[in-house]
Amino acid sequence: MSNQYADRLVVVRDVDSLRRRVRDWRRDGLSVALVPTMGALHKGHMKLMDQAQKMADRVVATIFVNPKQFGPNEDFSSYPRREADDFELLSAAGVHLLFAPEATAMYPAGFATTVSVAGISDVLDGKHRAGHFDGVATVVSKLLLQALPDIAIFGEKDYQQLVLIRRFVEDLNIPVDIIGAPTVREHDGLAMSSRNAYLSAEERVKAPALYVAIAGAAKDIAAGGEIEATVEAARQKLITAGFDSVDYVEARHADTLAPLTNTSNHGRILAAARLGRTRLIDNVPVPIQQGA
Ligand code: AMP
Repeated sequence: MSNQYADRLVVVRDVDSLRRRVRDWRRDGLSVALVPTMGALHKGHMKLMDQAQKMADRVVATIFVNPKQFGPNEDFSSYPRREADDFELLSAAGVHLLFAPEATAMYPAGFATTVSVAGISDVLDGKHRAGHFDGVATVVSKLLLQALPDIAIFGEKDYQQLVLIRRFVEDLNIPVDIIGAPTVREHDGLAMSSRNAYLSAEERVKAPALYVAIAGAAKDIAAGGEIEATVEAARQKLITAGFDSVDYVEARHADTLAPLTNTSNHGRILAAARLGRTRLIDNVPVPIQQGA
């Protein structure tokens, strides 16, 4: 695909080249935004790139399918990899730099460090995906320290991940502003995800029930519904809608992810459920807002 920006996107695969480019921009007084991804880019990712462009002079996207955040029985080997398509999308969007390292550049021989965030890593998705958030915290700390951007943008789609990142960035005094961006959805409410590609046509028809169930629960809780009974009803709705199993539907405090006890606090309904071999996650705010 040709476009007016195609020649602007530079790809680097080693940390020194990334560092040098970002350092030169910052020396020239330009602000830099980092947008980490695992590739197989969709409109949700591209919304983050748009936001990055509005907030900074230069945008660095990263693509790295991080082996450390996948469990032994998870989809690391089948995770979609579409670097040529991703390159075209990022070029067309005017992204300035793509950092796409090999695993050996991120985890050279002898690599021995894990960043682990107590508490947040052990609940919700952390309970169902042992080690996942250690893998996320480790790779995101590395990306932030490798690039040293002014801001880094992450989607609310992965809400627990966003809370985790805010926590370790504050705890480790990493000098970057973390920006959260709203979830981009398909017309029927399904949150966009690279993993939606795994869904069969039949599963794709059932999938929006996840959003419908948690959006309904958020509305009911905001209207004064009893919290535990409401999330239990949402779990039941998912099974009735044809989900094979429900890992969790929970109401949590939006900032700490502690169980939501008082509906006057800002809350979040978070859920994970399985359709065949596909595990879908989603979340919405309480009270729910338009376009959440
Ligand atoms: P991933 O490639 O799945 O690791 O996602 C990379 C970034 O894009 C993360 O910050 C995600 O939260 C974000 N993201 C993924 N899907 C969406 C979506 N539907 N809307 C907004 N952001 C998203």
